[in-house]
Amino acid sequence: MRAVVFTDYETFPSLHEVERPVPGPGEVLLKVAGAGACHSDVAIYKEFTATSPVSLAPGFVLGHENSGWIEELGAGVSGLRIGDAYLVYGPIGCGRCKPCSLGQDTYCENAASMPYMGLGLGRDGGMAEYVVVPARNLVPLGDADPVAAAPLSDAALTSYHAIKNSLPNLGGGGKFALVIGLGGLGQMAVQILTALTGATVIATDTKPDAMRRAEANGAVTVAGGEDQVAEIRALAGGRGVDAAFDFVGVTPTIKAAQASMAQGGRLTVVGIANGATEWSFFTAPYESTISNTYWGTIADLHDVVAMYRAGQIRPDVELFSMDDALEAYRRLESGELSGRAVVVPHQS
Ligand code: NAD
Ligand code: ZN
Repeated sequence: MRAVVFTDYETFPSLHEVERPVPGPGEVLLKVAGAGACHSDVAIYKEFTATSPVSLAPGFVLGHENSGWIEELGAGVSGLRIGDAYLVYGPIGCGRCKPCSLGQDTYCENAASMPYMGLGLGRDGGMAEYVVVPARNLVPLGDADPVAAAPLSDAALTSYHAIKNSLPNLGGGGKFALVIGLGGLGQMAVQILTALTGATVIATDTKPDAMRRAEANGAVTVAGGEDQVAEIRALAGGRGVDAAFDFVGVTPTIKAAQASMAQGGRLTVVGIANGATEWSFFTAPYESTISNTYWGTIADLHDVVAMYRAGQIRPDVELFSMDDALEAYRRLESGELSGRAVVVPHQS
């Protein structure tokens, strides 16, 4: 089968012919319906070096955002039907600690001794024709379109988890949320905020096209530039925003989000770009919080699928064939996409 492989540090991935994997005990083989290309993949192949976590050392198939149909069951797997459509929960923890017991493999207490972080993250992922997945990591899609669903498993799940943690800040009337970075994750965040809260969603990106799409998803937009924070604060009734989500994560975006916060506000940095900021008693709005976050839980993924099936959220996607999978990454890297890139390996 064909697969996109992370072959070496600081090297653009390549399309290879590899053996179709065989599901082990407790695992299933999925025929991939959709494989989303995430900016985290770009960080892996472009920025990681030999000093990066050994669990992410090169030599694996990329792809941690997948949907697919069950093709084959491994030993001991029952209760699943060949041909049914599922979404994949990508993180894989030890399965025994308390966070894993809660379906929060992202915060596995034994992560340091795990050989990989998840599917497409140290272990072969689903940017391929087939992928092997632990049966526990499957969330049923029912009769929902599995191709457009692929971005739910990261772009929507990560945004949903961050927003859920901020719901106490956004409950009640007259609330304001800020979304910085309107790519794969940010567009989902705008949709989820609109569906879950009555807050006014203020959104920004360096690309006008991304802002137009956010407006179509229910946001009011503010362009970049020197007056950006003043404009955001003015839109937010002069108080500042109650919750901010930074899907870029460089120092200037973290600082802009921080400066836009209201008293009691919560800033969640989702973008993995190693930006940094200062905090001091006198400059921080009283009782404001800055947090980071990583992906979400299996239970969150069930919620996200329920929202998709109810028509409350729908990823904007740009579809690519397996032949064009590398082109999807090239366009993601250069900012040329106008929707989440989803590779569809099997054209019906
Ligand atoms: P993407 O490339 O689809 O979108 C990024 C968007 O940010 C683009 O629209 C781009 O124009 C915009 N942008 C870039 N620089 C900007 C700036 N200075 N100001 C405003 N907008 C700017 O990326 P994505 O796949 O949506 O991922 C977003 C980030 O989230 C990445 O850093 C990725 O690694 C990270 N991520 C984090 C998690 C997590 O669990 N924390 C999970 C998935 C992805
Ligand atoms: Zn990702």
